[in-house]
Amino acid sequence: MSSSVSSVVNGGISHWYADDGFPAVREPLGGDASADVVIVGGGYTGLWTAYYLKKAAPFLRITVLEQKFCGYGASGRNGGWLYNGIAGRDRYAKLHGREAAVRLQKAMNETVDEVVRAAGEEGIEAGIHKGGVLEVATTPAQLARLKAFHELELSYGEKDRELYGAGETAERIRVADAVGSSWTPHGARLHPVKLVKGLAAAVEALGVTIHELTPVAEIRPKHAVTPYGTVRAPYILRCTEGFTASLKGQRRTWLPMNSSMIATEPLTAGQWESVGWDGLETLGDMAHAYMYAQRTADGRIALGGRGAPYRFGSKTDNDGRTQAATVEALREILVRFFPSLAGVGVEHAWSGVLGVPRDWCATVTLDRSTGLGWAGGYVGSGVATTNLAARTLRDLVQFDSGQGGRTELTDLPWVGHKVRKWEPEPLRWLGVQGMYATYRAADRRERATYSAESSKLAQFADRVAGRH
Ligand SMILES: Cc1cc2nc3c(=O)[nH]c(=O)nc-3n(C[C@H](O)[C@H](O)[C@H](O)COP(=O)(O)OP(=O)(O)OC[C@H]3O[C@@H](n4cnc5c(N)ncnc54)[C@H](O)[C@@H]3O)c2cc1C
Repeated sequence: MSSSVSSVVNGGISHWYADDGFPAVREPLGGDASADVVIVGGGYTGLWTAYYLKKAAPFLRITVLEQKFCGYGASGRNGGWLYNGIAGRDRYAKLHGREAAVRLQKAMNETVDEVVRAAGEEGIEAGIHKGGVLEVATTPAQLARLKAFHELELSYGEKDRELYGAGETAERIRVADAVGSSWTPHGARLHPVKLVKGLAAAVEALGVTIHELTPVAEIRPKHAVTPYGTVRAPYILRCTEGFTASLKGQRRTWLPMNSSMIATEPLTAGQWESVGWDGLETLGDMAHAYMYAQRTADGRIALGGRGAPYRFGSKTDNDGRTQAATVEALREILVRFFPSLAGVGVEHAWSGVLGVPRDWCATVTLDRSTGLGWAGGYVGSGVATTNLAARTLRDLVQFDSGQGGRTELTDLPWVGHKVRKWEPEPLRWLGVQGMYATYRAADRRERATYSAESSKLAQFADRVAGRH
């Protein structure tokens, strides 16, 4: 296949669906109904929550309401990095003390294994391979950040993380110009759609009701309102992540940030030899506008990064279509990383939205006075975090309904966290465009100057964005 951008399949939700096929769509809601728990959104958060709640309390009547089909959102489009990162950990350390943040990190490390375990127990074949995460530096400034990052992770109890020089990095993956890397075993690559489809089937088999093609327009205490009827329940859990702005009253809660990906055609054995990557680690870098990639189970490279970061008015995407310029930019990263793959075709490009809270901290909450709960704001780290959030929502509902006590999970520092809303437009749009333009400029400058100092521009953008 030609490598020109015009021949790329653009959109169609994601390459993962092109590979594994679309599921048969389930029946929409047929009229007013009642349940014990309503879950709005059929991504990993909603489905894992239904899964753990139903397992803990099989008598519960649980209904999932999904606007399109389960896995339509980020859960069917992501990079398949199942890893132990969680958005906001360092801020939680400042707010609640280091010990609390160390507990959160430990819970995340365990969550990677819990997803692997639960998928295995349910017979979900999601191409999971636990090869860890390799984060590489390709400039002196990135190397300085990498070393600081490595030390920070060690300080959160990751005793098994390793720091590599250029030679050891190349023994794993031959990234051009790599000057060092940090590797953690707490990560696995997976096929996102196989996981979300398997999970929806497992949840349904447990007796959870799933209605698809059923958009919820408004959530009120004890009510989830749709065009086809209202479902009443003591607990309504909002699991809508990057789409949250479309719900009444939630326009400025979480900003829908775009992330885009490309998938190459399958590489030949010779091409893989030029690249290495036998350990199937997920791969990332230390750029301000960072990239993430995996070697897929069917022998491709799937690589992502930030394209146009945000659409005015918190609009979400058109079934995954992304801009031609973004496809080209991601292809350039691929070739910069692996010059020997310059002739390799890009087969598919797509995008999706993730949820970004004003302080970039993921949260899970159950408001005991209203029975309204939510989890999300994972920024770019939700494949594992959704599972921890779901088990936490289970414990919060169990506790509130008198079926259980407080647990290790209900006491984690991200539970019940409150954050202010995003600014109204056009400030929101201008701020995010400015932030990413600045990150890209900072990356270009660091590459051009080859200085060991991180660009001040990026630090400034971080502060304005509320990231640090
Ligand atoms: C391109 C991309 C790459 C990513 N790569 C990674 C990665 O490699 N590793 C990682 O850890 N994280 C990654 N992420 C983030 C990760 O995919 C998400 O954090 C995670 O999937 C969030 O799951 P969720 O269930 O909360 O949200 P979603 O998967 O977005 O699910 C929300 C669901 O709610 C439904 N919905 C929304 N509004 C309504 C409504 N009003 N009524 C009914 N239903 C509604 C949507 O249709 C959707 O199915 C990536 C995200 C993107 C977009």
